[in-house]
Amino acid sequence: MPKVTFPHVGEAHRALKMLMTDLGNEVIMPPRPSKRTLDLGVKHAPEFACFPVKILLGTYLETCPQGVELIITSGGVGPCRAGHYAQLHKKILRSLGYPVDIIVFEPPRLYPLDLLHNVRRVNPGRLSYRSIYECVRRAWRKLQALDNLEKLSHRVRPRELNRGAATRAYRKGVEWIDRAYTLKEIIDAEAAALEAMEKVPQDPQREILKVGIVGEIYVLLEPASNLEMEETLGNLGVEVERSMFLTGWTRDNTWAETVENMTVRDAALPYLPELLGGHGRDSIGNTILYAKRGFDGVIQLAPFTCIPEIVARTILPRVAKDYNIPVLTFFLDEQTGKAGMATRLEAFVDLLRYRKRQQKSPKLVVNI
Ligand code: SF4
Repeated sequence: MPKVTFPHVGEAHRALKMLMTDLGNEVIMPPRPSKRTLDLGVKHAPEFACFPVKILLGTYLETCPQGVELIITSGGVGPCRAGHYAQLHKKILRSLGYPVDIIVFEPPRLYPLDLLHNVRRVNPGRLSYRSIYECVRRAWRKLQALDNLEKLSHRVRPRELNRGAATRAYRKGVEWIDRAYTLKEIIDAEAAALEAMEKVPQDPQREILKVGIVGEIYVLLEPASNLEMEETLGNLGVEVERSMFLTGWTRDNTWAETVENMTVRDAALPYLPELLGGHGRDSIGNTILYAKRGFDGVIQLAPFTCIPEIVARTILPRVAKDYNIPVLTFFLDEQTGKAGMATRLEAFVDLLRYRKRQQKSPKLVVNI
């Protein structure tokens, strides 16, 4: 049985583990990124490599000593560096004495033959295409259930009466979904998890702010890389809406571009007609859409040295002015600390609350 691993991205490893095991692989689970992960990545990656590259390298360096033979990851299109990182990782890992191979899943609608070739490589059990389809279907449903529970937690957390109740319900729900195997079990576990989350005691009268989160995919999806920013905001009474979830991104890059994705691209067009790679254009388009939907503010999450997000960062002040919406940018790297981030978030939330009260009753004077 080949030993495989993959990056740790939010809770997606739970669905990926099920899929890879079903296909006949032995899965070495990637640990949640920690300080050790980052230290390993920073030590062996080029200094100016993007932040996700360092975390991913650190993750691989934590799993490779357990005999990993194959790493499964996704690729990237467009003129940013994402397309080169698998090769870079492979070179570094081999130079450190780990003879691993890396399979890169590129967007199938652009490279359909690559997909078939890769599927054959991760299917040592030689399952038929029909059986593979069934395994993918169950894993996909599990991913959807995890995303749905996370979305609901974003709505419940700022309204909870007892601090930490939503997070506890979320963690319990994730475990239930994780243990489910058949399609029916997954659907039942999702329903139970959503119900438990809805039952968290809430204050429906609380004044809630709504903030959209935009930025690069890895720092959006992996809470360890953004220092659990969504949880911090929820505890400050902010309902967050993240512009990207793994299921949505996969859908856009697998079958066909969805109407939602086209709307984001069209919104960004007057400010940025070029494809940059990464998610820079999405950051601009989503900021405009959040402003149109009446959100109180937007936060951009950008890995340090990420070119697409740097370009978006230079355009966002104009978007913020044109659409009258405050935007706060965080550049994340190994130096970013949770306390410093919390201070900036508190100040931003105070500003948004002040603006909101001013808009409701312009004569009100609030000291901040
Ligand atoms: S999107 Fe940004 S962080 Fe990701 S690979 Fe491209 S430049 Fe690096």
